[in-house]
Amino acid sequence: MKKKILITDRFAQDSFLYLQQHSHFEVVRADHPQHLPLEHLVSANCLIIRSRTTIDEELLKKARQLQLIITCTSGFDHIDLDATQKWGVTVMHTPTANIESAAQLTWGLVLSCVNNVQQAHKMVKAGEWKRDLITGIELCGRTYGVIGLGRIGSRVAEIAQAFGMNVVAFDPYADDENFERLKIPRLSYEEVLKTSDVISFHVPKTVETDHMLNRSHFEYIHRGIVLINTSRGSVINENDLCEAIEKGWLRSVGLDVFEKEPLNRNSNLLTYPNVVLTPHIGANTEDAFFKASQIAANKLMAFFID
Ligand code: NAD
Repeated sequence: MKKKILITDRFAQDSFLYLQQHSHFEVVRADHPQHLPLEHLVSANCLIIRSRTTIDEELLKKARQLQLIITCTSGFDHIDLDATQKWGVTVMHTPTANIESAAQLTWGLVLSCVNNVQQAHKMVKAGEWKRDLITGIELCGRTYGVIGLGRIGSRVAEIAQAFGMNVVAFDPYADDENFERLKIPRLSYEEVLKTSDVISFHVPKTVETDHMLNRSHFEYIHRGIVLINTSRGSVINENDLCEAIEKGWLRSVGLDVFEKEPLNRNSNLLTYPNVVLTPHIGANTEDAFFKASQIAANKLMAFFID
């Protein structure tokens, strides 16, 4: 009997055809990532999803044939993992697909922040040419602090080294080998915050990382620091961040992720000239999309056939 695969969100056509051509599978696409067709959900053996599909107990109760969920994302925030475990459903993700894309966007934000690209762009578009108002800093010789030296953090660190920066990192769980391979000193969180000129967050969303940057840290963070977050919005207390920006403690801030997404139109973050914002597009490249789809297809093959 064929295994039914329900694809709930965007999925590369090549990978779709690859699965569809296989005689073991019946592959169905849903029209909307949040409203899955019940007639397919009840008989699906596998769901291939992205973050717009929420997996909760309610859905699992309906999907009685479900064996496998593959999310074409790095994070699992949209999946109730306690519930999938309870219902005996295996969950897989595609964390290697977007390493380059997320690291690249992180660096896009860093460069935009240190060279004031956003402000310069607005000025030119407004017909102004006040070059003296736009002054950046050089990165070479300065210190880059990585919080979370995992897949993306490590790639970000390599790029910082290519810029001639001294890289330091905080990650209580990463292996020593990771620090040694990159020749990066393992510092405490406080030391990284106090010594870095640029800092970026690459940690998962957990109870421990919830608001791991808040007022108590802004009190002593290196003044004039460039702060970047492309991991999860919950990591930074946004009210405290706004306070620190208003006090002039930060040179500039680049954010791809927010406590609440989409970002509220009344958020103070929209009002500061030295803040660059993107709408959670760290994984949004053609390449990451194709890689995630193909990795998901391969994982599915391995699960059901190998
Ligand atoms: P990863 O699991 O490879 O790395 C995370 C690292 O964080 C690990 O080394 C872990 O030891 C470390 N860590 C965990 N708790 C920590 C803590 N309390 N303090 C310091 N370090 C801690 O994950 P990754 O693939 O590198 O992804 C990093 C983050 O980026 C995740 O939150 C992921 O969801 C996010 N992400 C965002 C986008 C985007 O679109 N903006 C795209 C991809 C990934």
